[in-house]
This record gives sequence, structure tokens and C-alpha cells, in this order.
Amino acid sequence: MSFASLGLSAPILDAIAEKGYDEPSPIQAQAIPAVINGKDVMAAAQTGTGKTAGFTLPILERLAKGQRAQANQARALILTPTRELAAQVADSVATYGKNLPLRSCVVYGGVKINPQMMNLRKGVDVLVATPGRLLDLYNQNAVKFKHLEVLVLDEADRMLDMGFIHDIRKILSVLPKKRQNLMFSATFSQQIQELAKTIVHNPVEISVSPRNTTATTVEQWICPVDKKQKPALLIELINDNQWQQVLVFSRTKHGANRLTKQLEHAGIKAAAIHGNKSQGARTKALESFKKGLVRVLVATDIAARGLDIDQLPQVVNFDLPNVPEDYVHRIGRTGRAGASGQAVSLVCADEFKQLSDIESLINQVLTRKLVDGFEPIHNLPQSRLRPVRAHKPKKPKKPKVGHSDGQRSGENARGHKPSDKNKKNIWARKKSAAKSGQRANRGNANATQKKSGQGKPSHQRNRAK
Ligand code: AMP
Repeated sequence: MSFASLGLSAPILDAIAEKGYDEPSPIQAQAIPAVINGKDVMAAAQTGTGKTAGFTLPILERLAKGQRAQANQARALILTPTRELAAQVADSVATYGKNLPLRSCVVYGGVKINPQMMNLRKGVDVLVATPGRLLDLYNQNAVKFKHLEVLVLDEADRMLDMGFIHDIRKILSVLPKKRQNLMFSATFSQQIQELAKTIVHNPVEISVSPRNTTATTVEQWICPVDKKQKPALLIELINDNQWQQVLVFSRTKHGANRLTKQLEHAGIKAAAIHGNKSQGARTKALESFKKGLVRVLVATDIAARGLDIDQLPQVVNFDLPNVPEDYVHRIGRTGRAGASGQAVSLVCADEFKQLSDIESLINQVLTRKLVDGFEPIHNLPQSRLRPVRAHKPKKPKKPKVGHSDGQRSGENARGHKPSDKNKKNIWARKKSAAKSGQRANRGNANATQKKSGQGKPSHQRNRAK
């Protein structure tokens, strides 16, 4: 099948040819005609399948036929969970749309807002954004959606995981009701399907890989090892196998920094990328890694989400993720678009639960390879595959409600919630007090006690005085 047969016009076909793509990937073959025909799409597509072109190419095709964007208006909005992914999607939009007279722009937090406001002034045909910064810009009237034609939620599962649901709902509430909606997600959990019901209408459903599977082009195995030995093992693996470009995942920001130092100490050029780093430092680290100036990029899950590094051959899980779906995303960084890759996980006995959750999720017991000199003292048991329950995404932050002056009432004001047992006792006391007609007296006595500090431990009584 050719790209031309999917209904794309010459300027876009030329850009694709220049990029060197011979034929559409399966998701592109299904999504492109559907989007060109104005349909809503809900696609379960693993990362690395070419999903970005799957929605970008047909959106550009449609937008090229309509009227250009007016001042401060956006015609297509692509929402992504992370800044890096936003930047990458924006790059794709610019690359595929290079022969078209369309304007595109990317906005995300962590950098100055003013240049973004300036870019939006003339209006943009395609706006790529992370939710928080987009809302800031909207609230400052820098962007308007009166003429919005298409909405894309990219990596929708991760948006929910990262607690963006309130932001997404706010954004949805200010968009025109009549629009085309495309939802892309690496995994399609129950929660995503619930969200999808409120966004897409009669969607064309596309699934190019079974739910929660890992790319078959990725060779995966685990190295059982004791926790303390992990840095030394990683250094040995990098040196012995002469890995030149390795993306290493660390569960924590602190762990990422520490490991980076240990690698540098061993003479291996490394950089860390995580949420505590400024956007400038993150961009620089990624660029250096892509150019080969840095051999190892140590990343946390949030920062690494959506990173698209051409031909990335090697991913290492220095720690296993707590959320098993993250394993699928992590190893999806290699073996992209059919290329082969390797994903190695260094697993210690403490991580047995995470390992068995992952193996159950991907329905596969991972091959174990012991490395000479690093055989663990602490045994890592074999996991048994079991049915998987979807994990609950992070709760979004709720605006504070209740007493705005910080007062609390009833038992809570005394610093504890009544247990069910206590509740019953309180109720029983109230009832019997009412019966014996002593209620008012008891109330007065309590009030007096409180005032004088009686009935409190002596140190509190002194303070009360
Ligand atoms: P994505 O899943 O959108 O992050 O894309 C993964 C990688 O596949 C990117 O590096 C794209 O440049 C590449 N890609 C996308 N479509 C094709 C295609 N039809 N043929 C070859 N590579 C592609």
C-alpha cells in the first residue's frame, strides 16, 4: 500500500518521501483515510507504531483545504502529557507540513509564556500543547477556540495517570461542541474508555497491537541482581557489550542523579532527565544524547514519556516501575517502527511484586540471565502469571472546599475523626443524656471544663491558662 492511495495530496506526499517512509504503518493505513473523511477515531496504538504521523498527516490534509487561522485562533489542538512529547509532535507537524502554507506552534510549561503568546497572536492552524500551559494561555486570552476543527488527545492514558483529568475537562468545556475528535492511547484501560465516551462520537476504532503487549521486535530479559550491585552491573553491561546509546530508567529523580554521577565516575558520559531539571537542561540532555555526545541518558518515567529517538537500540530498567503499564511504555522506547531493540531490567529481590505485576500484564515470564560475578544473594522468586486488574490513575488535585477560614467542625476540630465505634458511643451518650434531662447541664459543664482547661493533660492545661 502507498501513502498516495490513502488520499494524501502532493505537498504532504513529498514531505513523507523526503522523510524516507516507503509505506504506511498499519495504524497509518487505518487512521489516515478515516481522519480525512472527518470521522472521530479512537486508536489503541503502542508507541513506536507511527501513530504521530497517523493523525498529523490527515489533519494537515484537511486543514490545507480550509481557511487559514484567524488572530489568536487555533484550528487543530493536539494535547500531549509531557513537554518532550509536545516538542516531538510539533517537530513532526513542521516536518510533514513543510510544503503547506500552515502555521503551527507548540506551547508547554517550564519556559517563558510571552514568546508563546506572541506566536499565537497571528493564529495557528495546528497548536500542540500540554494541558496546564494551554489553560494559562487561554485564561490570558492568548488563544481562542471559536474556530477549532479538530482535537487530538495523544497518550490519553498517561494524561490520566498524570492527573490531568480536571485540566482536560476544563479544556473540553471551552471547545466548540462540533469538532472532530481523535484519541490515541498506548494502553486502553477502563478509565480511558470512560473518558472516550465523553469525547469521541461513533469513532472508527483502531487497534494495531493487542492491549498491553510489548513490541515483538524488542528482545527483553531480566538480570536478577542484588540492589547494591546494580550500578556496578550496569557499568559492566555497558562496557562489555559496548552499548553506545542507552536509555536507563530510574524510578526516582534522586536515584537518576545518583546513578548519573556513578556512571560519570566510571568514565561513561551520562546525563539525567527528570521533572526537577529545568526545561533548558532537559532539552540539552536529550539533544546531547541524540547526537551521541552523551552515551547514557538516565530518565524518570515522566520525563522519558514519548521520547522518540531514532534507532534507539538499548533500554535498561535500572529499577522496575511501580505501575506495570510503565514497563510497556519504557521498553517501547526501543524497537520503534519495526527496528530491533533490547530491553534489560536489573531486578532485585525487593522488586518481586513489580516484576510479577509486569509479567502478568504482558502475559509473559521474562527470560532471566545471570551475569558472572553478579549472582544475587537474595533470591528473586519466579512469578506466577495471574489475571490483571487495571491500576487506578493518580487522583487529580481537587480545589479546596469546605470551611474557607480553616475551621473544622465537630469531632474533626478536636483533631480526630470519630471511628464507627465512637460514633455509636456519642450517639448513645446523647440519647441517654436527653432522656435523663441532663443535656443542658452537661453542655454547660463541658463548656466550663474547656475554658478552664480541665479534662486536658497538664501541659495543655498550662497552655490554656
Ligand atoms: P511514533 O509512534 O509516532 O512515535 O513514531 C515512531 C517512529 O516511526 C518515528 O521515528 C517516525 O519517524 C517513524 N515512522 C513513522 N511512520 C513511519 C513509516 N511509515 N515508515 C517508517 N518509519 C515511520
